[in-house]
Amino acid sequence: MDTEVELLKAMVSALPDPVFVITESGYYAVIAGGQDSNYYHDGTHLAGLALHDVLEPEKADWFLAQVRQTLLEDGMRTVEYRLAAEEVDGIDGEAGPAGTIYFEGHIQPLNERWKGERAVVWLARNINRRHALEIRLRHMSETDALTGAYNRRKLMEEMDSRFAEFRRYGQSCALIMFDLDRFKEVNDRYGHGVGDEVLRRITGICRQQLREPDVFCRIGGEEFALLAPGTDLVAARQLGERLREAIADHEPDDEQPGRRVTVSVGVSAFMSGDTHMEAIMIRADNALYEAKRAGRNQVLAVEQG
Ligand code: GH3
Ligand code: MG
Ligand code: MG
Repeated sequence: MDTEVELLKAMVSALPDPVFVITESGYYAVIAGGQDSNYYHDGTHLAGLALHDVLEPEKADWFLAQVRQTLLEDGMRTVEYRLAAEEVDGIDGEAGPAGTIYFEGHIQPLNERWKGERAVVWLARNINRRHALEIRLRHMSETDALTGAYNRRKLMEEMDSRFAEFRRYGQSCALIMFDLDRFKEVNDRYGHGVGDEVLRRITGICRQQLREPDVFCRIGGEEFALLAPGTDLVAARQLGERLREAIADHEPDDEQPGRRVTVSVGVSAFMSGDTHMEAIMIRADNALYEAKRAGRNQVLAVEQG
């Protein structure tokens, strides 16, 4: 390497992540780096083109807004976005990773002008692995490993949001809680493994009755809850009855009568007097307790706090 300038050029083109100089008016001035096709597509043809030449208007607008915001703030900004090869005109989708790439962009104002214009340096890092890990962690933090249903934490989070909606817009929402009847006997008679299988089966049966916004959770050992947004007490009672019936009527594959289970169901809905979201849980819990006391395998609703 003869001169420092040549070394710098070689270094820039060998940068592991792609780097763009993008002008204030939305032109790609320079593109370098990101040569490894396991991570990136070749975008060298973009130099001299405008964001709006190669991207959908909405996406181009977003990129340009980031450029301008960075110039306005006059400091480094970090943004996250996703982009697939098909979304950028002229990119050879075959010569690079398939599907959507999740990027973290580091954007820094350039100290020099480019042909009289202000510009930024935009470093785009492929964060697909981190993104996949984040999705997995989120999934693990809100689901129950045995049944795949949501867990108690997710229920509380969702209830929090639904309660806020109820207070603001009066959007109704019901909570249905149920507990397996005499489940201890199933474990004692057939073993814990069969008991676990029953819990999974019940999750499957309930899932068939759910609508898109419903949140079905296993909130304890053999206790489940269904949060049903947009459902009032009358409809929730019917839904609770459907769940109870579907579980009680279910024929297990092999003929072991002891594997048939029933559930006791408590139903409640948000009410105008509720000052905190726990109120709905307490009512559903009380109703469930009453359903047990009244002989199990039934649905009770509580209307008063
Ligand atoms: P009740 O009708 O009053 O609810 O009677 P029950 O026997 O269902 O209630 P109890 O609270 O006495 O027992 C609940 C049982 O649920 C105890 C425990 O063995 C069982 N259980 C809790 N979690 C699990 C689990 O993850 N797997 C299995 N197989 N059993 C569980
Ligand atoms: Mg219980
Ligand atoms: Mg029980």
